[in-house]
Amino acid sequence: MSPEPTLLGKDLKKQQQKEYNKRYQQEHAEKIKAQRKQYYLAHKEKLNAYRKAHREQINERVRRKYRENPSVYAVYGKKFREKHPNVNGERCKKYRAAHLEECRERERIYRLNNRDRSKERAQDLRTYAMHRVYGKGSPECVKCGCRNNEILQINHLVKTWTGKRPKGETGASLWRKIIEMDAPEKQYDIRCQVCNWAYLHTQRSGDEWEIKWK
Ligand SMILES: [Zn+2]
Repeated sequence: MSPEPTLLGKDLKKQQQKEYNKRYQQEHAEKIKAQRKQYYLAHKEKLNAYRKAHREQINERVRRKYRENPSVYAVYGKKFREKHPNVNGERCKKYRAAHLEECRERERIYRLNNRDRSKERAQDLRTYAMHRVYGKGSPECVKCGCRNNEILQINHLVKTWTGKRPKGETGASLWRKIIEMDAPEKQYDIRCQVCNWAYLHTQRSGDEWEIKWK
C-alpha cells in the first residue's frame, strides 16, 4: 500500500496561505467591498479607459468563465433580471430584429415540434380574449344569442374593410392585444359568424339585415 500523499514544505505553506486568504476574505467581506469601491471611484477614468480599450479581451474572459461554471453566473443573471425587469425584453427585441430570418426559422421548427402545445395556448388566449370582450359569463352572440363557441367571433365595431385585414388584428395577435388593452368592449363585441358578416355588410351598404333560420 502506498502512503497517502502529503503536502510538504512549499506546497503546505501555499495551501495554508490559500486557506487563510479565503477565511480573511469571508470575514472582511464588507471592508473589502468598501475598499474596492473607493479604489474604483479614485481611478474611475483610468479603469474605464482600460475596459474600453480591452473590451473584446474582457468579454472573452467572461465568456470563458461562464462556460466553465454556468451555475455561478445563473445567480448573477437572476439578480440582474430582478433589478432590471425590462432590459432583457428590449435586448431580445433588438436581437430578433437583427436576426429576423434566423429567428423565424427557429420559431417555425419550434411550432412544428410543439404543435399541440401551441394550439392549446392559442385556445387559452382566445377564450380569455373573448371573456374580456364579453365581460360577463360565457360569451354569446350579442345579436342573436347564439352560444356555439365554435362559430363565435370577435367583431371589430369599427370596420376598416379594404379586402385585407389590418395588420396585427387577426388570431393570436388580436387576442393578445385585447388581453392587454383597457376596455376592449368599446372596440369589439362578440358575434356568431353569420351576425359578424351581417354587421360588416350593414357597415358597408347601410342596409339592415334580418336573418331567419327555417
Ligand atoms: Zn348571431
